[in-house]
Amino acid sequence: MQQLATFDLVLFGGTGDLALRKLLPALYRRQLAGQLTEDSRIIGVARSDISREDYLAQVETSCRSHVGAEFDDKHWSQFARQVHYFKIDANAGTGFDALHACLKGREANVRPFFLSTAPSLFAPICEGLARTQLVTPASRVVLEKPLGHDRTSSALINERVGAIFSEQQIFRIDHYLGKETVQNLMALRFGNLLFEPLWKRGRVQHVQITVAENLGVERRAQFYDQTGALRDMVQNHLLQLLCIIAMEPPQTGDADAMRDEKLKVLRALRPLHGREVLTKTVRGQYKSGAVSGTPVVGYLAEKDVPPESVTETFMAVKCEIDSWRWAGVPFYLRTGKRLQEKMSEIAITFEDIPVSIYERPDKVHALNRLIIRLAPDESITLSVLAKSPGEGMRLKPVSLALDFNETFKTRMLDAYERLLTDVIKGNLTLFMRRDELDAAWQWIDPIREAWQRYDETPKSYSAGTWGPAAASALIGRDGFAWSNEL
Ligand code: NAP
Repeated sequence: MQQLATFDLVLFGGTGDLALRKLLPALYRRQLAGQLTEDSRIIGVARSDISREDYLAQVETSCRSHVGAEFDDKHWSQFARQVHYFKIDANAGTGFDALHACLKGREANVRPFFLSTAPSLFAPICEGLARTQLVTPASRVVLEKPLGHDRTSSALINERVGAIFSEQQIFRIDHYLGKETVQNLMALRFGNLLFEPLWKRGRVQHVQITVAENLGVERRAQFYDQTGALRDMVQNHLLQLLCIIAMEPPQTGDADAMRDEKLKVLRALRPLHGREVLTKTVRGQYKSGAVSGTPVVGYLAEKDVPPESVTETFMAVKCEIDSWRWAGVPFYLRTGKRLQEKMSEIAITFEDIPVSIYERPDKVHALNRLIIRLAPDESITLSVLAKSPGEGMRLKPVSLALDFNETFKTRMLDAYERLLTDVIKGNLTLFMRRDELDAAWQWIDPIREAWQRYDETPKSYSAGTWGPAAASALIGRDGFAWSNEL
């Protein structure tokens, strides 16, 4: 694997959950893989008044626990030499001068500023960096989701960040796009001819995208209660997955060619307005139940959740895309917390054959289905009908399966490992462009407005199930069923 260019990565929110649990272990793994030059630096930044030693102790504990058996003391000593810490309060605008002194003379290095903080700090941080002349031509800024809470607030953040960094320097993360299987979906579509003639109306019957979590709100209740499933998951991850399935083949593999095609899908999504929102969406909120046999409390009993909260922890929606390729093909999206199991997948069901000459299983099970599994493990499966052994021509569904771990016999890169190296390389392909983000909010906002206007309170579902019964009815009305119900 090629070494990356020398960089100074400044990690705002360096003491936070995301930085310690995901970003620093991802960087450490790249160190293990030999990709970091010895003079690259990782500079954690937060408000806490802690020493570099204290910070290193936190980072080490976290890397040991998240990297597991691959943790190696020799590599750790080298990594630790490259990790620094600075105290900055972005709201007060204090501490930037010390960072300036630390970066002085290193202007030629790639300089990513990773903002792993609340979005309300994005603009103050960028303005602090500009004031202290820390933004060089080799600088990039990486923005974590959520980028605002609606179209207006998102535009405001983009405006203020965009006054300091050019669009080519802004990396808006959607970590789902960093998953190996999502890129494999692109490889499947654009590296093979096989599926292209089938990838359209008349051949695809319907598409389902599920991102199910069995966890509850954990330590993020305050944030989650202000956000809900629509804005936390659908606005970004699920719509991005939908774009990858529905986009036209881009002219090249360049970032803008890809992003142009995704934007067209978002713009072709049929808007949902007014009462139609109530028939095409389902809002849910979990009540107490049991997940994998363990009793769990309901959302309203979670710490830091107001007892009268009407935030949705589950959401399902039927989407339609007004394009020649997809008109009339429903895309069903659903996501939720405290569901039966952790499972993320895209299921593409193809139309039935016109005439059958053999004895087949019932119609639903006879259909060809392409399943792209993102979690818990990553795989691609195509279900086809094969002859049952023995006399006669009786057909039964079997799977043609590609299990990535099994096939490539190598550890899959974590999404953040891939995305962080892309940031350092300056590759924007897997990051959202400003107009994409705006188009996504434009589609999302009327849904939330209609829920508010018509007082659509969430339907309750027991923790450990697959969500409210209304979600099964949403897809059932069209004669289909969620893949876990087949
Ligand atoms: P967190 O644990 O609450 O950490 C917040 C970080 O921001 C801390 O390092 C904190 O420093 C720092 N901070 C707060 N106020 C600051 C200020 N005025 N100036 C400088 N630094 C300040 O949050 P998180 O869970 O890591 O999440 C960070 C962002 O990523 C959030 O927007 C979140 O929604 C998003 N995100 C998180 C996850 C996740 O799995 N955690 C996943 C996707 C997206 P001190 O500790 O020193 O105060």
